Amino acid sequence: TMAHSKALLVLENFIGGKFVPCSSYINSYNPSTGDVYCRVPDSGKEEVEAAVKAAKDAFPIWSSKSPLERSQILNKLADLIERDLEVFAQAESKDQGKTITFARTVDIPRAVYNFRFFASSILHHTTECTEMATMGCVHYTSRAPVGVAGLISPWNLPLYLLTWKIAPAIACGNTVVAKPSEMTSVTAWMMCKLLEKAGVPHGVVNVVFGTGAKAGEALVCHPDVPLISFTGSTLTAQRITEKSAPHCKRLSLELGGKNPAIVFDDADLTQCIPTTLRSSFANQGEICLCTSRIFVQRGIYSEFLKRFVAEAKKWKVGNPSDPTVDVGALISKEHLEKVRSYVKKAQAEGARVLCGEGVDSLALPTGNQKGYFMLPTVIAEVKDESCCMQEEIFGPVTCVVAFDTEEEVIERANGVKYGLAATVWSSSVGRVHRVAQRLQSGLVWTNCWLVRDLNLPFGGMKASGIGREGAKDSYEFFTEVKTITIKH
Ligand code: NAD
Repeated sequence: TMAHSKALLVLENFIGGKFVPCSSYINSYNPSTGDVYCRVPDSGKEEVEAAVKAAKDAFPIWSSKSPLERSQILNKLADLIERDLEVFAQAESKDQGKTITFARTVDIPRAVYNFRFFASSILHHTTECTEMATMGCVHYTSRAPVGVAGLISPWNLPLYLLTWKIAPAIACGNTVVAKPSEMTSVTAWMMCKLLEKAGVPHGVVNVVFGTGAKAGEALVCHPDVPLISFTGSTLTAQRITEKSAPHCKRLSLELGGKNPAIVFDDADLTQCIPTTLRSSFANQGEICLCTSRIFVQRGIYSEFLKRFVAEAKKWKVGNPSDPTVDVGALISKEHLEKVRSYVKKAQAEGARVLCGEGVDSLALPTGNQKGYFMLPTVIAEVKDESCCMQEEIFGPVTCVVAFDTEEEVIERANGVKYGLAATVWSSSVGRVHRVAQRLQSGLVWTNCWLVRDLNLPFGGMKASGIGREGAKDSYEFFTEVKTITIKH
């Protein structure tokens, strides 16, 4: 009804510096209540065409600005998002289901930092030069922005991951068309409202909202978008690779993981247990870097399991806007069903569910009865070849298994198609180096998790991705290099 739809938040595309309504819309749900609360443009070819045109038109002016001018604008945008941090955090929590605490302390601060970081790093890149004295020549490299960058981001860390792409793309002088996840579009739309005030010229950042199949694919197939930076699932990445192949596009693909934690018997469990709980259940387990296979050395296996399960049971699940809540809602009803189905499959295969789904009862506040909640779930005695140990579950579910030797655990940890992140827990310096060298993983954390220096490469091996992003890597991805030879 009209009265009902009036109460909904209605988003608009942001094209050429203006908010533009769309001819059709899709519903967006509040995961913690199950209610439709927002209408998201269902953009397609036409909207993407307009956005790419605006981005192309803005390119000559934006790309000719000095890095310092662009840096100042990025810093201003960071200040404005930071000024509105609380409003952004509340919006992200409502839209995504994540806890307000996580949005306040991780998502939005990191979005702010992404702009500050690339505002700074863009000022410090150098190019290469070599001399060829016998030929009387010097060679040097020069880098220039590529053009219109297509940026496609997922729903788990909405503004955090979108700005991780927008910031380096525009810092390098590209203009962009971004397509956030249709399930979490609100904070991107809010950010658009700040662009003009920050001094971002019209058309430099365009955002089209909509589904992957329609809006995303139109962007991937657009001939005037030479570069796509994508974060999402491996399946979608395969489709994007196929669709972009006729245009030979440059792709950066940040994909899924099936990340192991390896706990040796000399690990400091007072640090390992709380960190591994976080690495398993933070953001409802909906982080590509989350641990979902915990290998524990036989001698400490039962002690680890006992302490880990006891602590997991203390995680409070409930209304995400309650600051004392540790686990919010999962993104959608479908996703919740999918995550639950993994627990059922594990049980059917004879694994033991030690806490959580199907074992403990979940009491929810009255307003959240229809939300997509699930208890942190720990599964033991799962076979390595089980789908729970092979496939990305992307929810608050983690498997704990025992191992005997270093050699054995390296092989088992590497025995999946993914290779994004691993954690190694041991107090032996030699061992952590040895194991880290041999893990097939783009990132290895020893005795910690999620400690990031944005200067260094981020990305996955095997089915976890192609390419790396970070200060230097993003600069290289978002620029085209040329070698120039001068004879004197
Ligand atoms: P997804 O692949 O379903 O969607 C990601 C984005 O791609 C969305 O914006 C979606 O609309 C769009 N999309 C879908 N189909 C498309 C198509 N055919 N063409 C163009 N765009 C299309 O992923 P998701 O479910 O939103 O996110 C969860 C996944 O993302 C998990 O696999 C997770 O591991 C991964 N992820 C990886 C990283 C990383 O940095 N490696 C970070 C976060 C999430």
